[in-house]
Amino acid sequence: MNPFTTDKHEAFRNKIREFAEQEIRPEARKLDQEERFSPELTQKMAGQGLFGVAIPGQYGGQGLDYMALVIAVEEIARIDGSQAATITAVNSLGLGPIYKYGTEKQRQRFLPPITRDGKTWAFGLTERDAGSDSGSTRTHAELIDGLWHINGSKMFISNSTSDISAGITVQAITGKQGDRDEFSTILVEADREGYIRRPIHNKMVWRAADTGELQFRDVTVPEENLLGERGKGHRIMLETLDSGRLTVGAMGLGLARGAYEMALDYAQKRVQFGRPISKFQSISFKLAEMATKIETAKNMLYQAAWLKIHDQPFGKEAAMAKLYTSEVAKEVADEAVQIHGGYGLIQEYDIERFFRDQRILQIGEGTSEVLKLVIARKIGL
Ligand SMILES: Cc1cc2nc3c(=O)[nH]c(=O)nc-3n(C[C@H](O)[C@H](O)[C@H](O)COP(=O)(O)OP(=O)(O)OC[C@H]3O[C@@H](n4cnc5c(N)ncnc54)[C@H](O)[C@@H]3O)c2cc1C
Repeated sequence: MNPFTTDKHEAFRNKIREFAEQEIRPEARKLDQEERFSPELTQKMAGQGLFGVAIPGQYGGQGLDYMALVIAVEEIARIDGSQAATITAVNSLGLGPIYKYGTEKQRQRFLPPITRDGKTWAFGLTERDAGSDSGSTRTHAELIDGLWHINGSKMFISNSTSDISAGITVQAITGKQGDRDEFSTILVEADREGYIRRPIHNKMVWRAADTGELQFRDVTVPEENLLGERGKGHRIMLETLDSGRLTVGAMGLGLARGAYEMALDYAQKRVQFGRPISKFQSISFKLAEMATKIETAKNMLYQAAWLKIHDQPFGKEAAMAKLYTSEVAKEVADEAVQIHGGYGLIQEYDIERFFRDQRILQIGEGTSEVLKLVIARKIGL
């Protein structure tokens, strides 16, 4: 029983949990070890309606709400961070801005290939020299005879290099507003000439998710691929991240739950000094603290999602929830490894993967330091 969710949400949770147990759990460790993005598993996730959870049925989505999306990501992250990352990036970063800011024509054109055909769509904000400082984008786009000519590059882009990646929403400089750069967002299809993709390998985290670097060498797209108003691009990207923080928060919550469940199970089975280690107070207190932090994180996150689905301001709560859940994921995964002793350090146990995967959560979509800046601003400082 949770005051923020309905029976429909919980039924959806059960469906996704069952799918994650049956289809993702058997694959996750191997894909991570082989550092392999699986289009087949991704297509299965799309087949479950996970591409477009909160997108209306007329565009091929499930027509559910953002709470359902949070729950779906949480349940998948409980099993595997890489697959949760794929789903998060598709929904909140890929579909989210196209649905929210797109014209009817853009929605009809760009959403169904993702929701119905299981293609992925990326979100291009970060560049080599523009990370937290996302206003220092160098990629630029010039409008010549009805075509945007795009030049530049994007770094660390999720869902951007596989064969099923259909394109990206990029932030680019499109001119000047006074003495400041004018930023706009443009939809760029992956099959355009000059669109160059480089997968990033040897990651510590999300090894089975598609992360890449893109280059645009005079890539051209029609003027009508402008998303939202010209000059409002940075606001579109930042507002997208507000919602994205809920799903990154869900990844933190799900990962913490998965790590806690593994630790609880292990502590009850592992016998030392003639009894299960869960009988030692120091171990049971660790588990009690982990359970308490998870409960707190869950309430914060669900409250923020509840505010969003009820059209209330949720930016501060989403930033707080992302900050807190990602830090809880780190603490819980660390203690879960401790409870596993030496076995927590070998790949035979999934907690080793969880311990690595949690590390991105304090960095992606706003580092913990930057989130504190955001929260400080939101509380009037
Ligand atoms: C696997 C993966 C997937 C990603 N997917 C995407 C994606 O799909 N799309 C996308 O656009 N980006 C994506 N990113 C990029 C991610 O959002 C950035 O890595 C993140 O925003 C931080 O930027 P940075 O890595 O350049 O670090 P930097 O901004 O260089 O930060 C380095 C350190 O300095 C600190 N710092 C920076 N500025 C301040 C400040 N003002 N005050 C205090 N401390 C500060 C940071 O907190 C951090 O500790 C992804 C990254 C990874 C690793």
